[in-house]
Amino acid sequence: MMRCPPFSYRAPTTVDEAVRILAGEGPRAMLLAGGTDLVPNMKRRQQTPPVLVSLRRVAGLREVTADGASVTVGAGLTLAQLAAHPLLRPWTAFGRAADSVATPHIRNAGTLGGNLCLDTRCNYYDQNYEWRKAIDFCMKRGEGGDGWAMRNDAPQGSVCWVAPGSKRCWAVSSTDSAPALIALGAEVTLCSTAGKRTIPLADLYRDDGIDYLAKRPDELLSEVRLGDPSGWRSTYWKLRRREAFDFPVLSVAAAVKLASDGTVLDARLVFGAVASHPVVALAAQKLVGARLTDEAIDAVAAEASKHAKPLDNTDFSLGWRKRVAKAYVAGALRELRGDDPSLLGPHARRAAALRPF
Ligand SMILES: Cc1cc2nc3c(=O)[nH]c(=O)nc-3n(C[C@H](O)[C@H](O)[C@H](O)COP(=O)(O)OP(=O)(O)OC[C@H]3O[C@@H](n4cnc5c(N)ncnc54)[C@H](O)[C@@H]3O)c2cc1C
Repeated sequence: MMRCPPFSYRAPTTVDEAVRILAGEGPRAMLLAGGTDLVPNMKRRQQTPPVLVSLRRVAGLREVTADGASVTVGAGLTLAQLAAHPLLRPWTAFGRAADSVATPHIRNAGTLGGNLCLDTRCNYYDQNYEWRKAIDFCMKRGEGGDGWAMRNDAPQGSVCWVAPGSKRCWAVSSTDSAPALIALGAEVTLCSTAGKRTIPLADLYRDDGIDYLAKRPDELLSEVRLGDPSGWRSTYWKLRRREAFDFPVLSVAAAVKLASDGTVLDARLVFGAVASHPVVALAAQKLVGARLTDEAIDAVAAEASKHAKPLDNTDFSLGWRKRVAKAYVAGALRELRGDDPSLLGPHARRAAALRPF
C-alpha cells in the first residue's frame, strides 16, 4: 500500500484565512481541494508539500451566481455539481468537459479549482517512486521523495525522457475544463494577502511542464466568470482510450457566435492535452464573416490542427493523434453548424451523450 508522506493539515474557514496561511508558509504549503489528484501524487512522491491547506471548510467557494447574462462560478464546486447546474446550461462545452472527467466518484469530490490547477502529466512522471527511481527520475521531479522537499524547491532530475536533448519539461496539460472554459472566454480570480486580481483563464497557463501556472504559490483561485452566452454555441470533444474514464489525450473545445443568418460573428478553438498548456488555435478567426460551409470548416480544421503538436508522452500513437486533431475540429464545427451528431461518427455521438445541455 502506498502511503502519503507526513504533512501538517490546516483547515481555514475563510478565503482570507486560507491566503494568510499560504503567505505565512510560502511554497511549503499547497491547497487541498477534492484531493483526487494531489493525494495520489503525494503517495507517489511526485508532490510532497509539508503543509496542506484544506479548502473543505472555506465558505463562499461553492456558489454559482448570475449577474445579468453572465455567471460567476465558485472554485470549490464539484465537477458533478457543475455538470448538472441549471444556470450553466447555456455554456455547453463547459458542462460536457466537466461531465467527461474521470468517474462519477471522482466528479463528486474533484473541484473546479483543482481541475484548473491540475498538475501536468507524462508517461515518465505519472509512475510510482520505484519506477521513476529505476530510470533515474525525470526533469519534472527528481530524487528526494521521502523527505520534506518543498514543492517549488523539489529536486528536479536532469533528463526529459520524452526529448532527452531538451532543456525543458514537456509534461502535458490534461485538464478537461480549461480548454472548454478558454473557448468560452472565461476569466479567473486569484486571491492573496495582496488582494484580488482577475485574468483571462488562458493567461493562467504557461508553456512549461514544471512551472505550468502563472499563479503564484500564495494565490488561491476563488472563482471563474463566464460572459454573456447570447448567440454562442459550443461543444467539447475528448479523445481517450477508455470511454468509462480516462484523462484526455487530445481534446477540442469549439465555440462560435452566429448571426441569425448563420454568419460567424466570432469563433474560438482550443486544444487540450497536446502541450504543456491549453493551445488556442487562432485559425478559428478565419471563420469570422463566413458561413460554416464544408469548405470553410475543412480549411480551418486543416490550419488549426497544425497548432496541435502532441508529443509521444501520453497514450496512442503520435501520428494518429495529429490526424484525429483535424477530424475533431471539423466534426466539432459541423456539430455547431447543426449537423446531426449521429451522422458525424462515434466521437460526435460520445460528445453528444455527455451532459446534453
Ligand atoms: C483515475 C483518475 C482519473 C482522472 N481523470 C481525469 C480526467 O479525465 N480529466 C481531468 O481533467 N482530470 C482527471 N483526473 C484528475 C482530477 O481528479 C481532476 O482534475 C479533479 O478535478 C481535480 O480536482 P481536486 O479538487 O480533486 O484537486 P486537488 O487534487 O485537491 O488539487 C489539484 C491541484 O490544484 C490545486 N488547487 C486545488 N484547488 C485550488 C484552488 N482553489 N486554487 C488554487 N489551487 C488549487 C492543488 O493545490 C493541486 O495542486 C483524474 C484523476 C484520477 C485519480
